[in-house]
Amino acid sequence: MRLILLGPPGAGKGTQAEKLKQKFGLAHISTGDILRKTVEEKNSLGEKVRSFMDKGELVPDSLLFALLENKLKEGNFVLDGFPRNLTQAKKLNEILEKKGENINLVINIKVDEEVIVKRLTRRFICPKCGKIYNEEKERCDNCGAKLSRRNDDNLDIVLKRIEVYKKHTYPLINYYEEKGILRHVQGNISPEKIFQNIVFLLKGEKIA
Ligand code: AMP
Repeated sequence: MRLILLGPPGAGKGTQAEKLKQKFGLAHISTGDILRKTVEEKNSLGEKVRSFMDKGELVPDSLLFALLENKLKEGNFVLDGFPRNLTQAKKLNEILEKKGENINLVINIKVDEEVIVKRLTRRFICPKCGKIYNEEKERCDNCGAKLSRRNDDNLDIVLKRIEVYKKHTYPLINYYEEKGILRHVQGNISPEKIFQNIVFLLKGEKIA
């Protein structure tokens, strides 16, 4: 099964991708995580990547593809944060077509803008196990690690990321709708409920 999770920043794509990974054994491919790891390496490539991420802008496609190339070799995956524009969507198509594969389903998680802003500006993340909290908190309930905040979760950058989403990523809804593989889920509800709805959708499609 090959899935794409679409949705604005803060829609809960990462949380749902982790749940899909656990339930269906899919590889969770998050371009945001790949890019953050690159930044941590603190070399010139990492610095270049950081300069875009810190401003809430998209990392240029050429850089992204170079970092992503090997990851798409996984047979069954859920994509989180990719594709983010039409060029990336077309390139993904090309890569899969060459292997005789396709995307089974694209799930668009719909969330209102004010909910996104609230969620992201108070998002705390566990650097050890990846658990996400949308409330001020010091330590992770799962593993006890000290929680941290993302550089790009401050209000100005969040607003920029929403603007970038509307301009570059939102058109993908139409792109995948025309291909007949887009489904919507409401994202203003609890992560558990969203997941139930996604599983329900997948079963209905008979691809789970
Ligand atoms: P995310 O973790 O998905 O919210 O992504 C964090 C940041 O990483 C974004 O604001 C972009 O700067 C960058 N990024 C993630 N995925 C992509 C992508 N597919 N194309 C370009 N930039 C990306």
